[in-house]
Amino acid sequence: MDYGPAPESDAEVRAWLATHKSSFGHFIGGKFVPGAKHFDSTEPATGKFLARVAEGSNKDIDAAVSAARRAQGPWEKLGGHGRARHLYALARMLQRHARLFAVLESLDNGKPIRETRDLDVPLAVRHFYHHAGWAQLQDSELAAYKAIGVVGQIIPWNFPLLMLAWKVAPALAAGNTVVLKPAEFTPLTALLFAELAHKAGLPPGVLNVVTGEGATGAALVEHAGVDKIAFTGSTEVGRLIRKATAGTGKSLTLELGGKSPFIVFDDADLDGAVEGVVDAIWFNQGQVCCAGSRLLVQEGVATEFIKRLKRRMGKLRVGHPLDKSIDMGAIIDPIQLKRIGMLVDKGVAEGAEKFQPEITLPATGCFFPPTLLTNVETSSTVATEEIFGPVLVSMTFRTPDEAVMLANNSRYGLSASVWSETIGLALDIAPKLQCGVVWVNATNLFDAAVGFGGYRESGFGREGGREGIYEYLKLKAWAARKPKAVQRIAIEAEVKPNFDEPSVDRTAKLFIGGKQARPDGNYSRTILSPSGKIVGEVGEGNRKDIRNAVAAARAAEGWSKATAHNRAQILYYMAENLSARADEFASRIKAMTGVSKAKSEVKASILRLFSYGAWADKYDGAVHSPPLRGVALAMNEPLGVVGMICPDEAPLLGFISLVAPLIAMGNRAVVVPSERHPLAATDFYQVLETSDVPAGVINIVTGGRDTLLKTLAEHDDVDGLWVFGSKENSASAEKLSTGNLKRTLVDHGLATDWFDSASSEGPVLLRHAVQVKNIWIPYGE
Ligand code: ADP
Repeated sequence: MDYGPAPESDAEVRAWLATHKSSFGHFIGGKFVPGAKHFDSTEPATGKFLARVAEGSNKDIDAAVSAARRAQGPWEKLGGHGRARHLYALARMLQRHARLFAVLESLDNGKPIRETRDLDVPLAVRHFYHHAGWAQLQDSELAAYKAIGVVGQIIPWNFPLLMLAWKVAPALAAGNTVVLKPAEFTPLTALLFAELAHKAGLPPGVLNVVTGEGATGAALVEHAGVDKIAFTGSTEVGRLIRKATAGTGKSLTLELGGKSPFIVFDDADLDGAVEGVVDAIWFNQGQVCCAGSRLLVQEGVATEFIKRLKRRMGKLRVGHPLDKSIDMGAIIDPIQLKRIGMLVDKGVAEGAEKFQPEITLPATGCFFPPTLLTNVETSSTVATEEIFGPVLVSMTFRTPDEAVMLANNSRYGLSASVWSETIGLALDIAPKLQCGVVWVNATNLFDAAVGFGGYRESGFGREGGREGIYEYLKLKAWAARKPKAVQRIAIEAEVKPNFDEPSVDRTAKLFIGGKQARPDGNYSRTILSPSGKIVGEVGEGNRKDIRNAVAAARAAEGWSKATAHNRAQILYYMAENLSARADEFASRIKAMTGVSKAKSEVKASILRLFSYGAWADKYDGAVHSPPLRGVALAMNEPLGVVGMICPDEAPLLGFISLVAPLIAMGNRAVVVPSERHPLAATDFYQVLETSDVPAGVINIVTGGRDTLLKTLAEHDDVDGLWVFGSKENSASAEKLSTGNLKRTLVDHGLATDWFDSASSEGPVLLRHAVQVKNIWIPYGE
């Protein structure tokens, strides 16, 4: 049987365009505002003109940010319930105009109406309902947090309305106001949304839309009035944005590219897995950041699987997006079409075998056939680069270990699909995959209650779920922090001759891989009291020492796999051993810093170790309930190896407050203790040595904070970076860590009260010590 075309009418969309004479300005402060320059948005399926949109200038961005700023206070003051009502109204508005949005999206983007109607629009609706709920619960569930302020959001063209919903719904729910920059190829559903949102009563300035290209996005990123940037797009632009926001205090979430594995074991339901592949790579023409674009098939079934897959490919229908019976629509733009073609040619030149089924493509417009590349080398361009088109590359593996190795052989880490009828095997593989989302016997499942986001160069931050709402909130206690007081630096000239007591201790070494180690450079630094008295000497660590420490931390991988119970026991043991030497630590702190509360600092440090012993097996993720047959396990996984710059204030308590949450969650740390007062940390070696802390879990390198920080920030084997030093330290941590897109937590030179548990203990830090992996598992009837 063959299907005839079943075209969806575009009359309503044409009528809406006509009311605007097919020409749009920006949507700022509740109304359309004309732009100075314009460009055309075309239909990818036909190449025909669709509408004229404005090219946003710095002035337009400025006007939009001002409108958002004016609206932010009143919007936040409206309270959780007030905002919940607005978000609910937006969900209802989307539902009422569902078909209009679906058709407009298909025309502007080229994706099949089946997908916009059945997926993009319903999921967008779901996001507004879900986040209306977070607004409602904010006062009770998120009481320690408040809105960040004005948020700049930049989204791509592959899911224009859905990405708007993912970004706008949580931002508004939490009490922020928004300036949104849609992608240049697909601005229309955002403009329609803004217009209808205001008809549905959304106050002016709460949501502003400025259209334009990359330069408009860059202007938004750089605007001083923006408090946060949320970006979805390429890793390349993500890096630029990380650099541009470094040191500004703007918070940032990045959802970037991927090259996600689709793993088929020999006991998988092969026909089910073939359908999975269709969804993984030909859904939305493969223009999906989490597309399952690397097929890994177990050797024994590879020939059969590829045979069935090719047969299925021959049945795919490529055609006009408004035809309800097609599987694949148009590629977004001729530039992208050309790029896909070039990458496929390159794959073939590098030895791949190309298969494209004999199916007819529309004679005009931007279309590319479903493509399979077999015989692909793991290092070839098509196996490593994101193609962002309907192109699947396939490789084989022999054992589960090899599957994991191949799957993780990527700088990205967005998602993975695992297909096996053996639950034990699938659940053994899921934790080993370095990515933010794992689908078991499924693919491309999304929901507002389930966080989405990447590991490694796929970016940081989550969208959706409890883990996602935090990205639009800031801790009240941190928002109230003031810049650190400038400490008087004792200089050598002030050192007073002292004949009555031998004041110099032995020189403390570094602590690397469980052993005390002499610094590579064989230099030491003198540690002075505030009055200039010599209180000790420590090793002057250099780049090489940091590298050794990182290697030791890398090798201590067993810690990340140790049970939480085991980690808790060791934290308690550290507390006990510190307790036994409390007086000694107190007098050391007093000698170094001159403070009177040295005893209470030691006491607070012991309590803190106890607290994280308690938290180790209690900060334990969640089971999300998406509205379909299955659950998603939100697992709190460690970041890996984390570099850390400790504060000068509270030299022991600051050090403990940062190290303890990290190791409680299974991270391994490379710690640069307080530059001025490092002796509390070097004294701590003996506590570490007597507390069964495995070698390499905590490594300590004393020395000059600026140079050691630089090496840590640039090191590609360091996954996270916590910096509690100067304002400049925070800026360089954010700027220099873009190579592998480290997760950073910095204090921007603001003073944290380490004695106040509300601002320095528990979930406030634990949340930064983990990244959430959501594992979708079929469950229930
Ligand atoms: P894609 O591969 O999805 O096209 P891009 O990263 O190029 O990814 O684009 C995603 C979004 O980022 C688009 O809205 C685009 O206009 C915007 N953009 C591109 N360059 C920049 C930049 N330098 N600064 C900010 N936004 C940018």
